Amino acid sequence: MNFEIFRVRIDDISQNELLGILKSWLLGSEQKMIVTPNAEFLLCARRDRYFTDVLNMSHLSLPDGVGLVYAVGALTDDRLKYRHTGVDTLHDLAKLCQEHDKRLVLFGGNPMSAEKAARALQERYPGLDVIGIDPGSIPTSGVGEPLLSDEMLDEIKKLQPAVLAVALGAKKQELMVANYLSELPSVRIAIGVGGALESISGTLPRAPEWMRSAGLEWLWRLRLEPKRFKRIVNAIIVFPGIVAWDTLRQRRFLQACRNVVPEVWKQISASTPDRTPFNSPLVGGRSNPMKARTRIAPSPTGFVHIGTLRTALFNYFLAQQTGGEFIIRIEDTDRERFVEGATEAMLRVFKDLGLEHDEGPFIDENGILDERGPYGPYTQSQRLKIYQKYIDQLLEQRDAYLCFCSKEQLNEMRKAQKATKQTPKYDGTCRRISNDVMKARLDAGEPYVVRMKIPEEGSTEFEDLIRGKISVDNKELDDQVILKSDGFPTYHLAVVVDDHLMKITHVIRGEEWLASTPKHIILYRYFGFDLPVFAHVALLLNPDKSKLSKRQGDVAVEDYFKRGYLPKALLNFVATLGYNPKPDQEIYDLDELVKLFDLKKVNKSGAVLNMEKLDWMNNHYLRQLSEDELAEAARSFVQANVDDSGVRRALMIERERVNRLDELQEHIDPYLATPRYDSKMLVWKKADVQDAKNQLTNIRSFIEQLDQTTFEKIADLEKAVKQYIEDQNLQSGNVLWPLRVALSGQERSASPFEYLWALGSDKSLARLDHAIAVLV
Ligand code: GLU
Repeated sequence: MNFEIFRVRIDDISQNELLGILKSWLLGSEQKMIVTPNAEFLLCARRDRYFTDVLNMSHLSLPDGVGLVYAVGALTDDRLKYRHTGVDTLHDLAKLCQEHDKRLVLFGGNPMSAEKAARALQERYPGLDVIGIDPGSIPTSGVGEPLLSDEMLDEIKKLQPAVLAVALGAKKQELMVANYLSELPSVRIAIGVGGALESISGTLPRAPEWMRSAGLEWLWRLRLEPKRFKRIVNAIIVFPGIVAWDTLRQRRFLQACRNVVPEVWKQISASTPDRTPFNSPLVGGRSNPMKARTRIAPSPTGFVHIGTLRTALFNYFLAQQTGGEFIIRIEDTDRERFVEGATEAMLRVFKDLGLEHDEGPFIDENGILDERGPYGPYTQSQRLKIYQKYIDQLLEQRDAYLCFCSKEQLNEMRKAQKATKQTPKYDGTCRRISNDVMKARLDAGEPYVVRMKIPEEGSTEFEDLIRGKISVDNKELDDQVILKSDGFPTYHLAVVVDDHLMKITHVIRGEEWLASTPKHIILYRYFGFDLPVFAHVALLLNPDKSKLSKRQGDVAVEDYFKRGYLPKALLNFVATLGYNPKPDQEIYDLDELVKLFDLKKVNKSGAVLNMEKLDWMNNHYLRQLSEDELAEAARSFVQANVDDSGVRRALMIERERVNRLDELQEHIDPYLATPRYDSKMLVWKKADVQDAKNQLTNIRSFIEQLDQTTFEKIADLEKAVKQYIEDQNLQSGNVLWPLRVALSGQERSASPFEYLWALGSDKSLARLDHAIAVLV
């Protein structure tokens, strides 16, 4: 969970979770930065946007100071559950350094307090490698950054600390970490610890526990250090004052609007952003409007599932909208489901739909599969070494273990669990085996898998953009296999590692993965990776509300194309399944969908695949095509020369009467060859054979003398024929019925004018001659 106060992100995590994260960071390969904001920090940040950015750049923002607890309560609808003082966190880090043989360097504080604190920590954690550096006074730049001399920097660098705790006071210490961290490559965790060195060194004894828990530590500190007066006033008077004022002002202002102009109120409430966690697409992570990096991670199983297309669209929309990147990653770790050539086929489908990705596999001009992008390979089977490294890390951290249980054993286990009505899950047999036994079995060449350890206690929580807060009791979770015996990782490990390494900011995927996400969250924690935003979209349903059947005809995008749905129609249809950007609009083009996209409007409940709506949309898009586009679209659907102008005209007419391209053939057949029909059909219901014959003979002569330009436009033909009927004082039906049947040979068909236009004068006259001849 995280909150935002005065634009500063505050992470709310438990002590246990924190320890896990710190451990993985300490043993990991990346540099992490922790800040410990209190009221003083927030007041600084309020005046200084740059400082806000620096605070938000941190990987963890641990709330220090009770003021924040109140502020969160007042400014948000939630409560802050945990508080971590700089002193506590420093103790945590010292303990971890002691356990894992890493060096801790304390830098700053009042004169001598760094060394004293180092000694105090050594006493408390025997064997801890800790060094205190008292830098004396450090000059600052115009914006308050400390300016370290090269010698000073070298001194720290030479010590090769794994953890660097800086105590230079709010702002200065954070700016120092942000500026110099990359120049200290040994450092894994850098933290600003405020006044912690004084407390630890005993220069400033800590307040008794009752005072701390009552939030009265400030009183104690004021007694010991009267020069802190200003800071304390800030923390206990100015900060709460501002919070109270802000809350009141906001409420009063909105209240006034509500009373005076209800319309304005509506507008304001619509545009007042929800209190979203810092990493939502609205607020933008790390205080910049976030450029989303999104992805789809399909498995090459032979066809593109329509649900995959839907998630692809949502991912694409968000990336486009924020100027970010959309990535395709091929998840081919399940070798049993792998289908040769499926990746190429899939890429072709996305290309046909006009969804261009920025990174991932591409088909080059020669039809060869190639990859583009800085975070490749984008095909998981080519990333096995990468996964191995992370599996090793988990094993080393003891967050994973080898499991030698055979298939038979697992089946037995499941059976037994089912018999006693327990949820079937791995019972942890191998989790308990000793190191020696494990080594012996490994040496004996026993096949094994690697399983992640699910914490035995507690729960795992995360925020889903569509479904809200999700919390799962860890007891419900299985010790998931993360490496299979064939040396391939499972989806669960690969997805977490890849999403992190590929810097994915938003994981938007189908609801079927929701149940796996808590396990992923635990892996993120073990690795110390930042969490992306998660959004799980509801599944697609059959009209009877059952889960969309797996019969390929219903689910494969390729099959929709084969049946003659246009890419644009399918795109519009799939994008608006269970999601409607505007209340009374159905038709959207790609640009509009991108512009209007809002993940929060995606329905929580399953979306029914309404084929009538798809047909209607396809018909709409068919009508929008130019003659050339229509000819191209129809080319593979009709057995006729689509370059012939008569065929093209027939297509232009008949597209209005079909929903799909595969219905066209039947519709244009009557234009292609003289149709056979029963001559009785030529006689209108209010007329007789003789009349039909007369009318056809007369209209034939009329049509024969029309000049060619009249045949250029349906409207001109219609006008001419209607004029003829009027001039001759005839009944429309007597003329138009036999004329239409003579031309089309159909009981129901397009109008005679359309047929005249499509057939041209010669063919039309020939059909009329035929009709006149058969009427006896
Ligand atoms: N390989 C998974 C799939 O085929 C990807 C799920 C995800 O997006 O994380 O749906």
